Amino acid sequence: MDERKNPSIHCTVGQCAHNLCSENYCTLDQVHIDTHEPDPSVKECVDCASFMKRTGCQ
Ligand code: SF4
Repeated sequence: MDERKNPSIHCTVGQCAHNLCSENYCTLDQVHIDTHEPDPSVKECVDCASFMKRTGCQ
């Protein structure tokens, strides 16, 4: 895995395989943001569709 952080994508989701959790940044060049709601109205309606579960923070 590429462990360089993308300084444009701050993320605290340490459970994601793409997260550099020692610094709270994503390591991808870009991410896909999506929604699970038909008409999103608050930030809780929005998701990172690039999330991938991992077993632990590295
Ligand atoms: S893929 Fe999404 S959830 Fe995972 S580290 Fe990057 S921004 Fe965070």
